Amino acid sequence: MSGEYSLELNEDQIQIQKWVHDFAESVIRPAAEEWDEKEEFPWPIVQEAANIGLYGMDFMAQAMLADQSGLTMTVAIEEMFWGDAGIGLSIFGSGLAAAGIAGNGTPEQIFEWVPQCYGTPEKVQLGAFCVSEPDAGSDVSSLRTRAVYDEAKDEWVLNGTKAWITNGGIADVHVVVAAVEPELKGRGQASFVVPPGTPGLSMGQKYKKHGIKASHTSEVVLDDVRVPGSCLLGGKEKLDEKLAKAREALINPKVTSGKQPAMATFEATRPAVASMAVGVARAAYEYALDYAQERYAFGKPIIMNQSIAFMLADMATQIDAARLMTYRAAWLARNGGGYKNAEGSMSKLMAGRTAVWVTERAIQILGGYGYTREYPVERWHRDSKIFDIFEGTEQIQQLVIGRAISGLRIE
Ligand SMILES: Cc1cc2nc3c(=O)[nH]c(=O)nc-3n(C[C@H](O)[C@H](O)[C@H](O)COP(=O)(O)OP(=O)(O)OC[C@H]3O[C@@H](n4cnc5c(N)ncnc54)[C@H](O)[C@@H]3O)c2cc1C
Repeated sequence: MSGEYSLELNEDQIQIQKWVHDFAESVIRPAAEEWDEKEEFPWPIVQEAANIGLYGMDFMAQAMLADQSGLTMTVAIEEMFWGDAGIGLSIFGSGLAAAGIAGNGTPEQIFEWVPQCYGTPEKVQLGAFCVSEPDAGSDVSSLRTRAVYDEAKDEWVLNGTKAWITNGGIADVHVVVAAVEPELKGRGQASFVVPPGTPGLSMGQKYKKHGIKASHTSEVVLDDVRVPGSCLLGGKEKLDEKLAKAREALINPKVTSGKQPAMATFEATRPAVASMAVGVARAAYEYALDYAQERYAFGKPIIMNQSIAFMLADMATQIDAARLMTYRAAWLARNGGGYKNAEGSMSKLMAGRTAVWVTERAIQILGGYGYTREYPVERWHRDSKIFDIFEGTEQIQQLVIGRAISGLRIE
């Protein structure tokens, strides 16, 4: 491990936390209900975030590169999602594409493409990270989208359909994970940047969702999409080496093959997703705590009943545990090391479950009002379920943790 282990926020981080919180409280919260009902991408809010420098390359660089603790982004995301998860994901969704490029690209590719995932305040752009397919979600190794190299033109030709893609089809930069040698499963895949306006890429169906409705989720159809050789992330030489190793590993199990590109991205982004869940859970807990002190039944505030106070005590404890695990995972992701190397998965598993449970308890505390759309807790509950599903379902996190603690190839 490089830095000294500490989960204490420094002055800069506390300032960023306050800055994002102010934006979440004054801009995001008041807009949340409207965009949830509309089920449309909240362009005006993303534009406002870009205007103040919260959506954009500079903020990402400041929060990620200049931060040795790994905590700045975690703290910022929690505040943003405390405001609203659908809008929060609309602001942070491009980060997944940026992480896909940063995790697999050469320095030149990172320099060229990451800024284009955000654009500028004058021309806001979006990124989309396209892995999942109708028949391959958890099972990332069996992607059907194919990438074929046209040597004569030094171009790659992509064909396939991607499913449930955040910002899919409305993004400027699409990062697509495709099979180059399908028989090598995950080890035969590579990531490609599809530049803005490339012919052949189109939006398929836009999904109608249970929660995070402001975030745009669509199919992405790739029909003979041609990209230059330079759009292969990491470059051809590295891919050829990786494929050769993977072929050898098929015959000789002692040879270790390279990492899966999509999995490398997910490893890095899991603590970020966990902090999204913590933000939603905290919003519901705070709301329920206030409500329980104001709502009278049988002549006293309902919090004066142990059953309500204990529920809130458990909610507070659970959120604290999830946040601490998330901070630890974020610190380890930045500084290396780790006890069992599954801390990212542990944090996401814990935070996802916490968000679902806490938001459901918040509805309980608000009673009949909690069940109506007049109060935000029902929306937070709908929003929370996504954290058990995307970036690796609950069961996939358990699988990763199970393998890490046992050292066995649990299926
Ligand atoms: C709103 C939203 C946004 C998304 N954004 C993106 C995005 O931007 N980019 C992207 O690439 N994808 C995205 N996804 C896709 C998401 O990552 C997948 O839906 C998720 O990985 C699960 O895949 P699946 O839906 O195919 O479920 P399946 O893999 O079919 O799983 C179905 C059930 O079986 C369980 N299961 C599967 N395999 C196992 C196993 N080996 N052991 C035990 N249980 C198992 C799962 O846990 C789950 O409960 C998004 C999804 C949603 C809903």
